[in-house]
Amino acid sequence: MLNEWDAGRLDSDLSEAGADTLAVRAGQYRSPEAEHSEALFLSSSYVFRSAADAAARFAGEQPGNVYSRYTNPTVRTFEERIAAMEGAEQAVATASGMAAILAMVMSLCSAGDHVLVSRSVFGSTISLFDKYFKRFGVEVDYPPLADLDAWAAACKPNTKLFIVESPSNPLAELVDIAALAQVAHAHGALLAVDNCFCTPVLQKPLALGADIVIHSATKYIDGQGRCLGGVVAGPAKLMQEVVGFLRTAGPTLSPFNAWLFIKGLETLKVRMQAHCASAQAIAEWLEQQPQVERVYYAGLPSHPQHELAKRQQSGFGAVVSFEVKGGKANAWKVIDATRMISITTNLGDTKTTIAHPASTSHGRLSPEARAAAGISDSLIRVAVGLEDVDDIRNDLARGLALI
Ligand SMILES: *Cc1c(COP(=O)(O)O)cnc(C)c1O
Repeated sequence: MLNEWDAGRLDSDLSEAGADTLAVRAGQYRSPEAEHSEALFLSSSYVFRSAADAAARFAGEQPGNVYSRYTNPTVRTFEERIAAMEGAEQAVATASGMAAILAMVMSLCSAGDHVLVSRSVFGSTISLFDKYFKRFGVEVDYPPLADLDAWAAACKPNTKLFIVESPSNPLAELVDIAALAQVAHAHGALLAVDNCFCTPVLQKPLALGADIVIHSATKYIDGQGRCLGGVVAGPAKLMQEVVGFLRTAGPTLSPFNAWLFIKGLETLKVRMQAHCASAQAIAEWLEQQPQVERVYYAGLPSHPQHELAKRQQSGFGAVVSFEVKGGKANAWKVIDATRMISITTNLGDTKTTIAHPASTSHGRLSPEARAAAGISDSLIRVAVGLEDVDDIRNDLARGLALI
């Protein structure tokens, strides 16, 4: 029994289950110990009944585990659960969000291919393309996220892949995913959406027409700032390529982290709802403050893409950015006056975080590139956590009172 891939497969039928049920139960396999909560399989390798068994398993003639760089039961549960939540045929877990992007591009692109990456993506994603993929002959261009005509104009005969984050960090800009998928497909390219800020609870890129979803599970999927991980999800045919790369190259997810993510997914919906409600309250309050120049949050009617956000997402997320009057000195004043909010660039945590993008995440950009990305010196990014909203507000008010 112990070596059987599906020894303890639950026979509960989830074929008609709703999204909340899938988040709690999809992908669970029960061991002969009959544990109720998902087991954590901290095992690097697996044993065989006989030499013939081992040979059959290595030859792929018999299903089952061989080695945890290939498969691990805890990682598999996480992969099946997130696939069910994203509506993907298959999901593949990776060691980090960056490893997810690495694995996707390494497995789907070759030298001579051209990739379009939205200008406002995570800084390390841009470094990955500019410093490394370019060296191996993968061309890259960076169209502005929301400008569909610019995406179409940037396409070449060798364009293979579009990569976007929507909403973007830190300015909460969106792209119409369904419309962008049409542009990609018209040019024979695939569309990959980094769904890190929304999670499948707030946005389902595959249902909107995207081909691939990627995640940094480090953020809301863990949701408690404990560990790193990532996901690539999409059609089984493409995911088989990603699996092949991961097995060979090795940036696979640790089973311990997978186990934390499994438990994270079970509470993801209620956490995202609470994050969104608090972020909305903070954004509305900030917009009323005389020291605040502008607030960037798609849940505000003043956001230029508020209608698109309402149509495309079922919530607006928890990242609120704002500009204070008086430039960098005042932005730093607000950050330094906090006594509870954590000064850190991470996000997707129960603990509220605050950062100054111009001197941290976007600090390596030239002043011109920063201006083109809309990152001013007076910009502050807050990733709203799950503390009392009054406490978050009061902590921000302390610094605003000094302006
Ligand atoms: C954090 C982040 C990543 C990178 O994820 P890691 O888990 O830190 O490697 C990628 N994309 C987005 C949108 C992120 O916020």
